[in-house]
Amino acid sequence: MQDLIPISSWFNTPINGKIIIAGPCSAESPEQLMETAKKLAASGKVNLYRAGIWKPRSRPGSFQGVGKEGLQWLQEIKKETGLCVITEVASPQHVEDCITQGIDAVWIGARTVSNPFSVKEIADALQGTDIPVFVKNPLSPDIEMWIGALERFYNSGLKKLAAIHRGFFPYEKSRLRNVPKWEVAIELKTQFPTLPVICDPSHMAGKKSFIFEIAQYALDLSFDGLMIEVHPDPSAALSDKAQQLAPEEFFELLNNLSFKTSDVSDLQTSIKTLRSSIDSIDFQIIELLAARMELVERIGKIKKENDITIFQLKRWKDIIDTRLKAGKDTGLSDDFLYRLLEMIHQEAIRIQSEM
Ligand code: PEP
Ligand code: MN
Repeated sequence: MQDLIPISSWFNTPINGKIIIAGPCSAESPEQLMETAKKLAASGKVNLYRAGIWKPRSRPGSFQGVGKEGLQWLQEIKKETGLCVITEVASPQHVEDCITQGIDAVWIGARTVSNPFSVKEIADALQGTDIPVFVKNPLSPDIEMWIGALERFYNSGLKKLAAIHRGFFPYEKSRLRNVPKWEVAIELKTQFPTLPVICDPSHMAGKKSFIFEIAQYALDLSFDGLMIEVHPDPSAALSDKAQQLAPEEFFELLNNLSFKTSDVSDLQTSIKTLRSSIDSIDFQIIELLAARMELVERIGKIKKENDITIFQLKRWKDIIDTRLKAGKDTGLSDDFLYRLLEMIHQEAIRIQSEM
């Protein structure tokens, strides 16, 4: 992906050198869509207005989106406000409908990117157009699948390509709705330096209160822009209500964010990015340790109820054997792993003893 077209030329001038995509999670009614769009347009701080028309929901029964009809509402927004508009496509039919209705750009959702068959069909449908395509990361932290999706669009002749980092499905309980795993986005940027990477703090956060810290972190990591969900009345939103900002909250967020790009040497930059990856991994280690201790507590309860001794030599020996074996080819020394496991095990025994 050598000859991508720089994102700075896709839409109206980017704000502070970054592209800002904002709008509701879902289009719900022409009024809801227009009310938000007018406010965002008047601020002059948004490059691209987003709204989901077809909503890929994990469970049936939740709001599935207004469908094709919403495309006309978006067209109206374009006419009235001059904003460029973007929506999610998940099938060739969606692509065709968007092209017919003059939608300016499309994004591919995390669930769709997780399916290479769908990606290929959508890429085929987009062939011959020069529509900007924003590719979200897949649900699982599989960078090959993310790159593979981008390559499929590139192979269809699309040169206006960007990635959207929206975090990954957490397999354990976590503070955020989706685990950022910044190291994955950093690796993508490292492999494809000319590929713009946008951050979607809304879906990472899952909750309003985390959006600022995530957005600022992404800007500090030199991401190329932000995609943020904004709804005129978030508490009444038909989807993702906990994470959508009211327009005023969104403007406050933009005012408080620091967009400055630091003037540092390449060496400093590479240390900073590597440290960010380390930070991200450390936070995951903490969440994993917490999840492990929660299980320890559950076992502790069973042991107590059934009068079973807390320390079980055979189990401890198994843990050491299997973990040291697993560590064999990782470059971690036996001694280090042993000491680490010992500390974890001691903490587990402490927790169960105190029950
Ligand atoms: C969305 O942007 O509203 C959406 C459904 O996102 P994702 O595919 O990241 O879950
Ligand atoms: Mn959403």
